[in-house]
Order: sequence, then structure tokens, then C-alpha cells
Amino acid sequence: MGYSEYEAISARYQVPIVVTGFEPLDILEGTLMTVRQLEAGNAVVENQYARAVEREGNRVAQNLVSEVFEICDRKWRGVGSIPKSGYRLRYEFRDHDAERLFEVEEIDTKEPAICISGQILKGIKKPHDCPAFGTLCTPQSPLGATYGLRRRRVRGVLRLRAPPESGRGPACCLKATAPRAAVHALSEKVLRKCRESVEVKEKFFRLYAEQIAELCEKMAGRFQAGHELWVMGNGGSACDAQHVAVEFIHPIIDKRRALPARDLVSQIPVLTAISNDKDYAKIFVDQLALWAKPGDMALAISTSGQSPNLIYALQAARKKELLDHRVLR
Ligand code: SF4
Repeated sequence: MGYSEYEAISARYQVPIVVTGFEPLDILEGTLMTVRQLEAGNAVVENQYARAVEREGNRVAQNLVSEVFEICDRKWRGVGSIPKSGYRLRYEFRDHDAERLFEVEEIDTKEPAICISGQILKGIKKPHDCPAFGTLCTPQSPLGATYGLRRRRVRGVLRLRAPPESGRGPACCLKATAPRAAVHALSEKVLRKCRESVEVKEKFFRLYAEQIAELCEKMAGRFQAGHELWVMGNGGSACDAQHVAVEFIHPIIDKRRALPARDLVSQIPVLTAISNDKDYAKIFVDQLALWAKPGDMALAISTSGQSPNLIYALQAARKKELLDHRVLR
């Protein structure tokens, strides 16, 4: 940021504000500029740190910050929550959000009872009003927020992340938490995929439950009459075809009798022979022509519903008066 934001404060509260650098000479010059304003009865914003700070700030950096972050309420040590006083990563960058990855819910630092740093930060009291100032509390051994904020916060965060079972200090705990965070992020993805999968299945069965029930009735009739089920599919659907067939041949449900079902994908020599000598699109239709009897059932499993070999097979199945049904995976 630049310093234009301070101008409204200076004008409203009639106080001089001077932006300074961090070197001793910067601070001395900044103090001198402040004193001169006070003596002259001025209340404006001045910039001692012109070698680094411009009135409007660094526009490129500001644009980058607003691209990645959005404004949010933040809790400040010793002060409490201030609305719209902080930044958080925008939703599209959530995978880099350390608070989420490291499961940091709330960082709540308790100040020692003697510490009045919150009141000092709010301008209600001065550091010298604190009985610990310069005695119990020094820059080398700070107690509260207005002394050594950065050092203690880092230590506090490290302590927060220390794995209780390790018995080791903060130096090793960051290494220990990184894989855990990765596992957490991954498990979130797994759960999200699982929810999506459940939603798709629910949607499918809401739409087709009645048709499926009717189809089961018809199939039961055909099995009773001694007919067989022929199952087929490509790729992953080929595995599904094998799985479906075995569910009929070797039912896992107790007391349900085995029913005749065969997949048309397991005979590799047959599949490769037909593909090689004729056409891959004929691999199922040729097998059905050879083995299926009128009244049997044909089940084609396909993700796209567009596989030529399945389409040919079902056309042939209908001609042969098989009960056919296509399932879109
Ligand atoms: S001097 Fe130390 S203890 Fe006293 S208010 Fe400041 S930070 Fe807190």
C-alpha cells in the first residue's frame, strides 16, 4: 500500500502522520518531521521514506494481492476481531491455503494477566502504564503482543503443530505435518468423489428404477424358461461384463440359485481372431450368432452407447428374438 489511506485519518483526527523507514536515521528524521508539524499546528501525511514508498503504493503488487486474496474479518492479537481487517486466499487458490491444509481452526494466544498490550494497541494506554514494561517484559524476553509479536507467534504456531506423540520439538514438527496435510487434502478429494458418485447413482436409479424392475421381471421369466444371459462391453465395461456374468453364475446372495450367464469378452483367441480376420466391430455379433438361442438375453454395457460392436450385437440379438438391454455406464 502507499500512504494515501492515512490522509483521511490525519484529517479526521487532526494528527500529523509521517511515514518513515526502519534505519535509525529514518526514524530520527521522521520524528523531526512530526515535531515540526506539531510545532506548526499542521496535521498532514508526510513521507520520509520516499526512496521506497510512493503515495499510491505499488500498483503491480496491489493487483497481484487482490487477484489472489480477498478481504475478510481477522482476529488481531491483543485487540480481537476487526471486521474486514485481513486477507484470505480466494476460493480458486484454496489448495494452497495453509489454514485448511494444516487444519488450523483458531489461533488463540492468551496474553499474560499483567499484559495490557491490547489497550496499548488501541491507544487507550501507554507502554509505561504497564508495570512489566522494561522489567519483566523486555525485547529480549517479551511477554505480550506489543513486544516481540513476530517471534512469539512463530513459536506459537510451531507449538500448535507439534505432533503430541513425537515428543520432539518444533524444528521437526513442520516436516511431520506436511505429509499429513497432503493426506488430508487427498482424503477430502476422495470424499468429494464419493459424494459425486452417490449423487450420480441416486439420479440414475430415480430415473430408471421402474424400468429396471420391469426388466428384472422379464429376465426372471426367461431364466425360468431355461434361457441364458450373454453380457458384453469394451474396456472397463468388458470387466463389468465379466463381473455381471459371475454374479449370476456364482451368486453371493444365499439361497439364490445359480443362473446361466456368459460374458463375450473372455475368449481372447476368439476376439483376436475375429478382429484380425474380419472386423473388431463383429466380435460380439459373431459369437451371439454361434451360441445364442432365440429367447436368450443380451446385455450390452457401454459408457457412450455408441460402440459399433455393441450396436451390431444388439441388432442381431433383436433379429434372433433375444431380450436385449443396454446399460450406459
Ligand atoms: S510491556 Fe510487555 S507485558 Fe506490558 S503491555 Fe507491553 S507487551 Fe504486555
